[in-house]
This record gives sequence, structure tokens and C-alpha cells, in this order.
Amino acid sequence: MFLVANWKMNMTRDRIGKYLDALDGRRLSSVLTGTRHEVVLAPTHVYLEYLSGEASRRDLPVRVFAQDVSTRTEGAFTGEVSVRNILDVGAVGSILGHSERRQYFRETDAEVARKTGLCLKGGAVPLVCFGESREEREAGKTLEILRKQVSGVAEEAAKASKNGLDTPVYLAYEPVWAIGSGANASCADIREVILAVREDFSWPAPPRILYGGSVNLENIASLAALEHLSGFLVGSAWLDPEVFLNSILALS
Ligand code: PEP
Repeated sequence: MFLVANWKMNMTRDRIGKYLDALDGRRLSSVLTGTRHEVVLAPTHVYLEYLSGEASRRDLPVRVFAQDVSTRTEGAFTGEVSVRNILDVGAVGSILGHSERRQYFRETDAEVARKTGLCLKGGAVPLVCFGESREEREAGKTLEILRKQVSGVAEEAAKASKNGLDTPVYLAYEPVWAIGSGANASCADIREVILAVREDFSWPAPPRILYGGSVNLENIASLAALEHLSGFLVGSAWLDPEVFLNSILALS
């Protein structure tokens, strides 16, 4: 399973140090022994270099992802952070199209697709979030929305593969109404979405699909039993390293 902690704008240098202390020693390595889980931590851009340096200094088996990248590659774009920038400071991929970016910063499907293409071209793993709002779900539009959000991403994956690039594409089904709300999607809902994503597009290789939205210690094991589910993207619960470690144990 691909296990991604989205720290959002919650961490400081001090708190990151304490988080890594908690994962240190026995802990993360032995918790991962005999499993095929991969652990990813996603801080804000300013902590990418600190986190990747500290993780490797402590020999922690974690990978570092950014939470977003620019639609531009380089040049006069004040305040933007490119794919090359994040790779340069130790990240290996980026979350893209998180619903908070779509909602608060008006990020469009076309921009998310463009960022996906730039990640694939630059050698960074894209983890693209998609998911419907409560109103869209109640109007029966879940599959329509996912097709709209994912089609450009699938086109970028096909283009990259045609160009001989083999960076994998990860997707995260994150229903907006489930994020931070305490209400997670049911296994049946997630199953339906996973099947639609796998079957409705021509992927060069089946994308790995994660689920995110109020995952916690109580529900993670039953969600993990879903066929074709490749991992979790978790916000609130995994701000606590003990819950993070116990979640991995619950999956083992
Ligand atoms: C998220 O923001 O990606 C997320 C899944 O948050 P939470 O786990 O808090 O619902």
C-alpha cells in the first residue's frame, strides 16, 4: 500500500523534527518489515529539503512529496514552485489537484492535467486527487465528475507513455464531502469509482488508486480490503505520528 500523509499547512520545523523522532528507531523500519507498504510524507514546499535531509540522516524509509507544483517549468513566475525545484530539494513526486486547491484557488481540470504532464516529463510521480462534492453526489453526478476530472490526466499518461516515459501515475479518490468531515465513503462507493476509473479511460498501465477522506484507525483495515485499492491519502489523522504508525500496524 502507498501511504501518504498530507500535512497541508500544519507543520513547523520543530514539529517535523518531533514527528521524525517518533518514527525513528524501532519504529518505522520494524513496522514496515515484511510488508510492501511505501510511506510518503508531504510537507509544504519550504520544508521539503529539511524533511528529506532529516529523513535520510535518520535512515528513515520515507519518501517526500510536495503538495502542489506550478503549471510553468521555469522563468518569471513570482511565487511559483516548479517540478524541477521540488526534485532539486529531495521530493520525488507531488500531490496534484487536491480539492482544497480546486475549491479555494480555483484550480481547473486543465491545469491539473498540465501539472500531471509536467511531473511525468520531469520524472516526478504525480498523485492526482479527484472527487465529487456533496451536491454533485446527491444529484447522482459522481461518475460524471470523475470522468471530467480524470480524462485529461489519462491523456497525459498516454502521451508520456508514447514518449517512452515510465513514471507511474497515482490517483486519489477523495470525495470532497468526506475530507476532514469524519464521514468516509462506503466500500461500495469506492469500489464503483475504482472500477470506473480503471475501465473508462485507456491507461497505458492500470493507475494505482488511493482513497482519502476521513480515514482513521477504526476504518482503515476494512477499507484496505477493497480490490484494486493501492493505498491511502490521509490528512488529519496522520498529523499524529503514533496514529500513523498504528495505522500501518492495522494494515499489516
Ligand atoms: C485530505 O485532505 O487529503 C484528507 C484526506 O483529509 P482527512 O484525512 O482529514 O479527511
